[in-house]
Amino acid sequence: MKLSSKNLGDRVDTLYDAIVVGGGMGGLSAAIYLARYGLKCLIIEKGRGRSVWMQDLRNYVGLDPDTRGSAIVNHGTKQAVDWGADHLRGFVEEVTDEGDTFAVKVKVGRKNSTYPVFRSKYLIAASGVMDKLPQLDDMQNVYDYAGYTLHVCMICDGFDMWDQKAVLIAGTEGQINAAFVVNWFTPYITVLTHGLVEVSNEMKQKLADHGYPLYEQKIAKFHGENHKMSGVELEDGTMIEATTGLVNMGSTYYNDYLKGIEGLEWDGENLVTQGLAQTTHDRIFAIGDLKKGLNQVSIAVADGTMAATQIWRNIRRASEPRKWEANVKQKAIVN
Ligand SMILES: Cc1cc2nc3c(=O)[nH]c(=O)nc-3n(C[C@H](O)[C@H](O)[C@H](O)COP(=O)(O)OP(=O)(O)OC[C@H]3O[C@@H](n4cnc5c(N)ncnc54)[C@H](O)[C@@H]3O)c2cc1C
Repeated sequence: MKLSSKNLGDRVDTLYDAIVVGGGMGGLSAAIYLARYGLKCLIIEKGRGRSVWMQDLRNYVGLDPDTRGSAIVNHGTKQAVDWGADHLRGFVEEVTDEGDTFAVKVKVGRKNSTYPVFRSKYLIAASGVMDKLPQLDDMQNVYDYAGYTLHVCMICDGFDMWDQKAVLIAGTEGQINAAFVVNWFTPYITVLTHGLVEVSNEMKQKLADHGYPLYEQKIAKFHGENHKMSGVELEDGTMIEATTGLVNMGSTYYNDYLKGIEGLEWDGENLVTQGLAQTTHDRIFAIGDLKKGLNQVSIAVADGTMAATQIWRNIRRASEPRKWEANVKQKAIVN
C-alpha cells in the first residue's frame, strides 16, 4: 500500500518483518523479493536519489541503454506495492536498536512535518550515496551537464567518453589519479582542480609525462547545448575544449541514521558486509552503493535479492513449519 500522511495511522502499530531505508535500485529489488516471500515490508524513500538522476542505464542486461533511472524507480515502486509492500515518501532520521526490533523515526512532509515511528525485526540499509559536484554560483549550469555528458561514474560511462576530449574534475590529489584509469577510454584528458587542490610537483610531473594539461583555476562555466558539453571556461577566461568529462570529487553517504547503532563495522563511510549482504549486526543488511563494493545497478539489485532471501531464511527457520493438518495422522501410526 502507498502510505501518506493521510493513512499512516493504519500502519504505525504494524511490526514489519523488514524496513527498507531507500527505494532506489537495491531497496526496490529487496522489497519485491520480501513481498514475494510473503513478508511484511515497508520501503521508506526520501525522493531525488542517485538512481533518479541516472539519465540512462547503459550496461544492464536486456534493458535499452537509454532507459532512465526514474522510469525504473517508478515501475519498480509500483511492482513492489503490487506484490504487497508498503511504500512511504519520507526521510529516515533515526534508527534505534531495541533488542529484537528497530524503531525507525521518519520525517514525513516538508511543511507541517510529522514524525511517525515504525517498527521492524530487520533493517535493510539501501540509502546509497550522492556524488559531489563542483560548486559554481550558477548550479543549474552544472546540472545541465552532470549526468549527461559530464559523467560521475567511470564504470558506467567510460565507454561513452571513448577518444573524446575530456576534462577530469578532481577535488583532492588522490582523485586526480583517476586520470590514469580514464586513459583506458581516452588519452585526451585535461585535469581541472577548481582551485581545491595543492598539486604536488610529483603529480604535476606525472601528468606532464602523460601529456595531460593541468589547470588549477576555478571553473566559471560549462559551455554547450542540450546537455552536450563543448567546453569549460575557467575564471581567468581560459577556454578548454571538451565534449565530455568525469567528475571525481567523492560522495556524500546517506548513513547518518545508522551512526548510533552498535556493532556495525565500517570501512570509511561504507558498511562492511559478508555472506548475503549481512553487516556485522545480525539484523541489519546493507546493500548497493552504501556497502563496500562496486557502485552499479546490477550489484545493488543482486544485493537486494540476497538480503531479502537471507531475511526470509532467518524468519522461516525460526517459524513452525506449516503442516497439511488434515493429513496428519495420530502419533500412533509410528510406533
Ligand atoms: C548520472 C549517473 C549515471 C549512472 N549510470 C549508471 C549506469 O549506466 N549503470 C549502472 O550500473 N549504474 C549507474 N549509476 C550508478 C547507479 O545509479 C547506482 O549504483 C545505483 O542507483 C545504486 O543503487 P542503490 O539502491 O544503492 O542506491 P540508490 O539507487 O541511490 O537508492 C538509494 C535511495 O535511498 C534514498 N535515501 C537516502 N537517504 C535516505 C533516508 N535517510 N531516508 C529515506 N530515503 C533515503 C535516496 O533518495 C535513494 O533513492 C549511475 C549513477 C549516476 C548518478
